[in-house]
Amino acid sequence: LALLGPAPGAPCCPHGPALLFVKTSQGKEEGRRFYACSACRDRKDCNFFQWEDEKVSETRLAAREEYNRNHQPSFTHRQNMDRYKNFVLLPSSKRRFCQECQQLLLPAEWEKHSDHQFLCDITTAQLKSPSQLLYPLENKKTNAQYLFADRSCQFLLNLLIDLGFRRVLSVGTPRLHEMIQSKSSQEEFSIRSLLLDIDFRYSQFYTEDEFCHYNMFNHHFFGGEAALETCRKFLYEENGERVIMVADPPFGGLVEALASSFKKLMAMWRETEKEGHDNKEMPMFWIFPYFFESRILDFFPSFSMMDYQVDYENHALYKHGKTGRRQSPVRIFTNLTPSMIVLPEEEGYRFCTVCQRYVSSGNQHCEICNSCTSKDGRRWKHCVLCKKCVKPSWFHCNNCNCCTLQKHSCDKTDVGCFVCGKAGHKRSACPSLS
Ligand code: SAH
Ligand code: ZN
Ligand code: ZN
Ligand code: ZN
Ligand code: ZN
Repeated sequence: LALLGPAPGAPCCPHGPALLFVKTSQGKEEGRRFYACSACRDRKDCNFFQWEDEKVSETRLAAREEYNRNHQPSFTHRQNMDRYKNFVLLPSSKRRFCQECQQLLLPAEWEKHSDHQFLCDITTAQLKSPSQLLYPLENKKTNAQYLFADRSCQFLLNLLIDLGFRRVLSVGTPRLHEMIQSKSSQEEFSIRSLLLDIDFRYSQFYTEDEFCHYNMFNHHFFGGEAALETCRKFLYEENGERVIMVADPPFGGLVEALASSFKKLMAMWRETEKEGHDNKEMPMFWIFPYFFESRILDFFPSFSMMDYQVDYENHALYKHGKTGRRQSPVRIFTNLTPSMIVLPEEEGYRFCTVCQRYVSSGNQHCEICNSCTSKDGRRWKHCVLCKKCVKPSWFHCNNCNCCTLQKHSCDKTDVGCFVCGKAGHKRSACPSLS
């Protein structure tokens, strides 16, 4: 399956313009092109489908529009803000949150939710940390809401502050956004954040200047022109307040679709300034697993991958355990100068003067490659035949003429998985993603 990208005049599903796809085999297009939902990779979440050359009747178009309207959230962002204003006026004994509907309840609504589970005595502190109140949407294929461990979130925020940024465009990073919001209310200086996320539950807690309902796979602002304008205004650097974009997309997502949206956000930033930005690129942190490195570099040649391992709170594999830490494969990709990204020495990171960047403790500088070559944090070994460093568990197979796992069948020459490059499975079944 290949993505042909966001096509002009694409039909819409409830998640905005659909993306154009085509089935491929050995790199060649095969069969009819079709449109499918940009956000949901699981047909159960959104089953939108249309052939590119399909004639859609007026009645079906009307029905589709009706369907799209009916599948929008029941309250608008504006309505949610009015509700919030009323909610904070309530005494704490009347502040309820429905866990089934994931919604703040006003007393008049209690009746309707009477047989739902709810939390009471919602505090101001809870309202300021919605990512703790809301349950993470863990649906692997669509939302994959994996929240930063406190340590990683704190590290990111301190790094942004040390680098001198005063504004953060938080794309799919509700927890970072939340930490910035609470920081800016405490400290003397201000650092601001605008959250762009598809999770509309957040509109209950943030104003229209703090949150935009946004789809990062098709660059769709659900709030239309007004929301776009909010984002534009946020990107305009008044009083020299520098802005950076930080994105942590679902890992199952299509890199090409994400890259295309991020480029559009970067273009928005560039266009806010008539002469100012010259040919500079908007600073960005793209948080993604290391095995996507070459895919990301295809789209953003100015990016490099940092060794810092980003940890998550609710991810069974990627969290920083109490004993025997499972190493997280998630990294920061950035277009900032690597030497400026200072990694914590107390966690074992050290500065390599040759590479001019911080590397993880196990990452040894290879004299032959003249670089710190490990991608996963373990010490890699140099293969003279392959002329590069490889994973410690690999060995050189003379049949295949390359380094690979000990256990492999030499005759399997089919192209590997799009995600990890290994043979024997497709990207949708890639074990790296689950
Ligand atoms: N580590 C981050 C959360 C990353 S999880 C943090 O702790 O702040 C991925 C985030 O992307 C979730 O918040 C999810 O709601 C959001 N997301 C998923 N699909 C999206 C889409 N199509 N468009 C915009 N945001 C999306
Ligand atoms: Zn080095
Ligand atoms: Zn080497
Ligand atoms: Zn072999
Ligand atoms: Zn794979």
